[in-house]
Amino acid sequence: MNKPRLRVRLTATAESIVRSGHPWIFSNSIREQNRDGAIGELAVIYDRNDRFLAVGLFDPESVLRIRVLHVGKPVELDEAWWKANFERALAGRGVLTAPHEEVDEFGGAVRTARPTQMPAVILDERTTACRLINGESDGWPGLVLDQYDRVLVMKLYTAAWRPRLDLLTRLFSERLAPQSLVLRLSRNVQPHFAAQGFRDGQVLHGSPADAPVVFRETGILFAADVMAGQKTGFFLDQRENRREVEKLARGADVLNAFSFSGGFSLYAARGGARSVTDLDLSQHALASAQKNFELNRGDSTIARCHHEMIQANAFPWLEGNLDRKFELIVLDPPSLAKREAERAGAMRAYENLAASALLHLRKNGVLVAASCSAHVTAEEFFGTAQRAAHDSRRNFSVLNKTGHASDHPATFAEAEYLKCIFLRFAT
Ligand code: SAH
Repeated sequence: MNKPRLRVRLTATAESIVRSGHPWIFSNSIREQNRDGAIGELAVIYDRNDRFLAVGLFDPESVLRIRVLHVGKPVELDEAWWKANFERALAGRGVLTAPHEEVDEFGGAVRTARPTQMPAVILDERTTACRLINGESDGWPGLVLDQYDRVLVMKLYTAAWRPRLDLLTRLFSERLAPQSLVLRLSRNVQPHFAAQGFRDGQVLHGSPADAPVVFRETGILFAADVMAGQKTGFFLDQRENRREVEKLARGADVLNAFSFSGGFSLYAARGGARSVTDLDLSQHALASAQKNFELNRGDSTIARCHHEMIQANAFPWLEGNLDRKFELIVLDPPSLAKREAERAGAMRAYENLAASALLHLRKNGVLVAASCSAHVTAEEFFGTAQRAAHDSRRNFSVLNKTGHASDHPATFAEAEYLKCIFLRFAT
């Protein structure tokens, strides 16, 4: 016999939070539940007048008990609904929904693509990597879908998607016909998926993508380790900030601290930097930065730029090595506050990091400081950089304050994790 639908009622506060569009319902907001729910089951949320309010993915093992999929009028989450949900996300990126024409990579012959083919042109004609689904903010809680050339990478941050892996695979691969669809799993959900035979880096559809996938971002070639690299293999969220760095780099000696695969470095090199120094703790990250420089040897401006790599812990390195000076310094550390309790310590660390970077910055130089800690607000983070600037007793001005790239929409406060500030020091 079929079980009755899982039905819940919320506290008054949670009810209005959900109504306002916030996608998270914590366990302590649930006031009534008709029965135990299984992981990934759909929970229907009713308001205090017994009217349909929302529907979401249930997770009995997480304090984040329900992730909202839909709020408003009652709907059936059938295949057509999922398809429409995907189509909405694609349309938000300007991904073509009808048969279309493409220009080949040499900008020449035009041919007609099959309707289900991966669009070769996304965002702009020189960019073949894009975030197609940005989790909650696109109506897909805890799910990220990135495209790197013809490869799709789906990263899951909640075990609640486990019962729907077949649906997701079918939906994404039928619509876009990728060369492969790779599953990536955040560390905390890996044991749950392992119990069902799924592992991080598994190919769900198409041919294995063993070698790093080469793609273009505003014309620069990059290789992403989609099977095992951080996030989905590359930090697409910094695209716009990298473009800004390119504009500031002419003639500069540039330090890219926490460089990962050299995203900021390649842009600085194309912008005419005299030299670029990558500083990262990970040998693997530096090796991929080196490879990315090699991929772009055909670009004479990039080829002219002197590229140096330093494998070190950036915190002590920046406190010492005071003979090394630069005109442009990028600081993009990993999240320094993974939990709310780490917020105050992270703010001190950001301030100290900016202060020690300033010891290496020449007159008229630019400091670019980024934070990806969701627990530190933009205002708090910008405050740390500005305090360090102020305490240096140098004349400075704020050139820009930015966030993530446009294919990373954020519809609620917790989703606005990336912030970046550009400061110029006249003295
Ligand atoms: N700016 C990069 C992304 C940075 S990710 C981009 O745009 O692609 C963070 C990087 O910091 C990772 O490569 C990691 O290896 C490195 N890292 C972490 N802790 C570090 C430390 N203490 N010192 C130097 N690098 C560190």
